Amino acid sequence: MFENSERTDIAELGEFGLIKHLTENFKIRHESSIKGIGDDAAVLNFDGKEILVSTDLLLEGIHFDLAYVPLVHLGYKAVQVNLSDIYAMNGVATQITVSIGLSSKFSLEAVEEIYKGIELACNKFNIDLIGGDTSSSKQGLVISVTSIGYVDKKDVVYRNGAREGDLLCVSGDLGGAYLGLQILEREKLIFLENPNIQPDLEGKDYIIERQLKPEGRRDIVDLLAQMEIIPTSMIDVSDGLASEILHICEQSGKGCNLYEEKIPIDPVTYETARELGLDPTVCALSGGEDYELLFTIKQEDYPKLKNDVDISIIGHITEKNSGCKMISKSNMVHELKAQGWSAFKG
Ligand code: ADP
Ligand code: MG
Repeated sequence: MFENSERTDIAELGEFGLIKHLTENFKIRHESSIKGIGDDAAVLNFDGKEILVSTDLLLEGIHFDLAYVPLVHLGYKAVQVNLSDIYAMNGVATQITVSIGLSSKFSLEAVEEIYKGIELACNKFNIDLIGGDTSSSKQGLVISVTSIGYVDKKDVVYRNGAREGDLLCVSGDLGGAYLGLQILEREKLIFLENPNIQPDLEGKDYIIERQLKPEGRRDIVDLLAQMEIIPTSMIDVSDGLASEILHICEQSGKGCNLYEEKIPIDPVTYETARELGLDPTVCALSGGEDYELLFTIKQEDYPKLKNDVDISIIGHITEKNSGCKMISKSNMVHELKAQGWSAFKG
């Protein structure tokens, strides 16, 4: 699907030609980027700040399927999921490096699409591309993004700071990215059986966008700063709400009560889950890839954010011995598990 009418063989440019071609339009925006692409290493200077570094590795066939992921979205998402980790530390993301492994099926035009997505993400989130690595791969596409950012020592938020009585909060809504993926997978199977059938994505724009074009929640980090709230703990929702809550509780040495009725689920997500015979709550708990921020705040900070429509308070932190619990809509108490919701389904 990345084969446009034009197809330029990457061999025509050579490795250095390719790097230059792909990166020459990226501007440097941050004073902290002293030296970007072009030397043996980038040089950064953060002037006394705590430095944040995070890396993700994405493999074709494992993390993405080019049958339905446009390359421009892939580039965009590869950057976003990585920035999300910096935001989850309550930090500001400033630089990325991008490393790619390309098999011979990728033309120059195809790689340009990936870099278009990377550039969109850099422009939108104010990020400098400061380096990377380029290699051929025997099979398929590999992309690895490393993001770098900073945070004031007094503002850094770890997973381990939740205290008893803290409120458990999450931004945006959950489960959409997982259901978007289910719809894309369904349409791919239909297409493979009969290529004449056009994909039926009507009314599913929201969840498909949640899957293909997630956005790191830098706006929530800014919002919390404006409200003068420093969360006591924070994590981004990449693997599903249940798994992330368990990380916070485990690392903080605490338990929690999560209320099913408080979990934010968009109507399209809800209806699609029902259509596919899935429980919407299970999709939110175990689906993943929503890249929302899950965090805990002190009770005294509650008045500052209680009216914000983009933040839901979904539970509170308890002592370790009471365990991690979900109170269902029918008032049943379930032990929160990262997966395996059979007891709860139906
Ligand atoms: P080295 O041999 O020292 O690893 P390279 O020739 O791989 O250097 O890279 C030259 C410069 O281009 C370096 O600054 C490197 O960070 C940058 N670079 C290489 N590949 C990429 C890429 N895919 N995207 C962005 N920058 C890249
Ligand atoms: Mg190199």
